[in-house]
Amino acid sequence: MIDNSMTEVTIIGAGISGLLIARHLVDKGASVTLVGPEDKRQQTLCTWRNMRPPEYYNEHVIGRWNTWQFGANDTNIVQQSDSYWYEALDGLSLKIALEQYLSTQPRLTRIKELANTEKKPNQAFQIDTASSSFTSLYLLDSRPPHFSAKGLIQQFYGIATHCDQAHIITKHPILMDFNIPQINPDSVAFIYVIPLGQESVLVEATLFGISTVEESILKNLAQNWIKENCSSKHVNNSLIFEEKGIIPMGPVAFTNNGKPAGIAAGSARQSSGYSLRGLERQIKQFEDFNDLTALSHSPYSSLSTWMDKLFLKVIRNNPSLGKPIFSAMGQSLTGDQFAAFMADDFSIKDGLKIIRALPKIPFLRALVSK
Ligand SMILES: Cc1cc2nc3c(=O)[nH]c(=O)nc-3n(C[C@H](O)[C@H](O)[C@H](O)COP(=O)(O)OP(=O)(O)OC[C@H]3O[C@@H](n4cnc5c(N)ncnc54)[C@H](O)[C@@H]3O)c2cc1C
Repeated sequence: MIDNSMTEVTIIGAGISGLLIARHLVDKGASVTLVGPEDKRQQTLCTWRNMRPPEYYNEHVIGRWNTWQFGANDTNIVQQSDSYWYEALDGLSLKIALEQYLSTQPRLTRIKELANTEKKPNQAFQIDTASSSFTSLYLLDSRPPHFSAKGLIQQFYGIATHCDQAHIITKHPILMDFNIPQINPDSVAFIYVIPLGQESVLVEATLFGISTVEESILKNLAQNWIKENCSSKHVNNSLIFEEKGIIPMGPVAFTNNGKPAGIAAGSARQSSGYSLRGLERQIKQFEDFNDLTALSHSPYSSLSTWMDKLFLKVIRNNPSLGKPIFSAMGQSLTGDQFAAFMADDFSIKDGLKIIRALPKIPFLRALVSK
């Protein structure tokens, strides 16, 4: 049971963060009002893990792999891990299942409308939607935050397609394939591939950059990769789904009333944009300490936050360094070391090993510059 003063909570935003937080709050005995339209976006959510996720994820697992691959300069680097796996979840089916679970909970009020305003005229927050107006003592806001000018933007366009060569092209995820034409000097682009089954793949063209580009540019990169790598057996009926996103890499600015949650509360790892694991950690902290404010605190260690800032600074100063940096991480680290870094589960000693593997001069410059 949570603290008596905090048994009544409103959450704005019914994306994966709003829904997961609502589920855990309701399970802890809180009365929750969840505000926001149903999030019907297709999302393939991937995470590094060394422990089992909640059981209610099970039916949404697309795959789990203990090997993954990088591609650069026409060579492939495969890493294998003994302790970690890379897991892909069907985020859309998870969101639908969470909505379904919450709809059966008597302590949950669901308003499927946008929040128009949220104010704090006195002790309580006032929330207005098109058809309702109510007050709440505790407000969590998971709407997308503003991106900081100091960070980078991750933009991607993914195409899930039938591909009869899928099992031959790759049996495991390709995290970064840099063997594609680059888009502009302010960014680094790569292809990311997840096997969806024996005969289908998700191919995402991804950009780490200072600004976004036309969506069609990324779509073309993904389509070209598919053309080059997949056979044309299903050419007229190949599309399964598309997904796209723009997520922050770096600090985010929260300017609303209430407390931030999800990406707005820094759940996205600064050097990668992965956020599901961060959100799960925030929820665990909340459950362990019965403290709602844990949902609004960064879930990452000070060591990884420091290293991420350095990474971002180096790549922001010179995006073309993204390719040698990530290739060096692929080549010099073991699968366990790489996954531990990605999962924020590493020691200073491991951190030093990573730094030793990277090009020295840009990192030294970033260290001494403001
Ligand atoms: C296609 C895609 C793939 C991704 N893949 C991964 C991955 O592999 N691994 C990973 O860790 N992360 C991944 N991410 C990052 C991803 O952003 C997060 O995991 C997740 O979406 C974060 O959820 P969130 O609820 O914090 O934010 P969001 O997903 O941004 O949700 C915010 C919600 O707020 C709602 N909203 C906006 N305005 C209002 C309003 N006025 N009133 C009410 N509601 C409002 C929106 O409708 C939305 O549902 C991916 C993102 C996308 C888009």
